[in-house]
Amino acid sequence: MPATTIVDVRVQPLNVELLEPFGIATGAQVMARNVLVQLTLENGVCGLGEAAPFEAVSGETQQLVLQQFDEAHRLLIGRDVHEFRNISAALWEAWGSVPTAIAGVEIALFDALTRSLGISMLDWFGRSQTELRTDITITTTADVDPIAAAVRASQRAVREGFHTLKVKVGKDPLDVEHARLTAIGEAAPSARFVLDANGGYNVKQALELLTSLGPLKHRIDTFEQPVAREDWHGLIEVERTGGVRVCADESIRGFSDWAALVKHGGPSGLNIKTAKLGVVRAWDIAQSARVLGFELMIGGMVETELAMSCSACLAAGLGGFSHVDLDTPLFMHKRPLVGGYAQHGAVLNLSNLGLGHGVQYDPGVITA
Ligand SMILES: [Mg+2]
Repeated sequence: MPATTIVDVRVQPLNVELLEPFGIATGAQVMARNVLVQLTLENGVCGLGEAAPFEAVSGETQQLVLQQFDEAHRLLIGRDVHEFRNISAALWEAWGSVPTAIAGVEIALFDALTRSLGISMLDWFGRSQTELRTDITITTTADVDPIAAAVRASQRAVREGFHTLKVKVGKDPLDVEHARLTAIGEAAPSARFVLDANGGYNVKQALELLTSLGPLKHRIDTFEQPVAREDWHGLIEVERTGGVRVCADESIRGFSDWAALVKHGGPSGLNIKTAKLGVVRAWDIAQSARVLGFELMIGGMVETELAMSCSACLAAGLGGFSHVDLDTPLFMHKRPLVGGYAQHGAVLNLSNLGLGHGVQYDPGVITA
């Protein structure tokens, strides 16, 4: 049996309290109910992965992810992790409707493989750069005064050294969103913005919001998923008529979606997330998108430093990602994990990762 054969698979809930609910147009997550995946190889190396279901985005839940692992033995035990493309194909065939479970396994798989090779995942993907600069999210909120809450969050972000604010929009009426964005613009006068509607608008509403912003519109780098996932013409229209770069996120859940984007000729950017695509497909789509000249964003669901360190290795390894949205560990209380990238304000430093993605499980750290 090769030393890199999978001999054991374990999963457990990874529940992490959030400092405040992570609100988007379609709902909010008050606690991260993720899943920790551990793959052990014949050589004794253990790889760690994380599945991060976000029900309001994809309908996936922690329970649904855990259920998939009833089949884990058949799919994984006895397989050599060097065959990661065949393993990935088998996972997509069996678990295609629960991509975050596939991501959990593939993160653990590449962690185990690269640890066995004695290298980091950053080296595996190419080490194009050792630093990334992330944005920080200004979430939607249930606060009675959403404008004051957004101003407080924006001022804090500026104090902590963030230059790009990703503002979740699409929950409140347009006049409230307009007032909120204007207030954020004043609270963070030198910040750039990404708007993310998570598909919450139609074309008319998205364009109305952009027009209402006046000069503030010129500080918007990207408008992420302004309209519904299937509305390719709408995404392109918001980009062309609205005069801002549009990035597809919910629209890109696999190869056929990516092919549809290319066929439609836009929009000009796409958000790559392992939770939607797994690691292998995220890697493949990122490579082809870069070759075809599309703008790349790296993002995630509400993930700890575990899944985020894997994504950081993918983005910094391949290089060429114009936008980095890897901020959700900042919204979390203590979790039973140590290591990964070092963060100072907006900067994620990957130069001292160690092996794999660098993150280790330490149950002693858990608080709840
Ligand atoms: Mg998004």
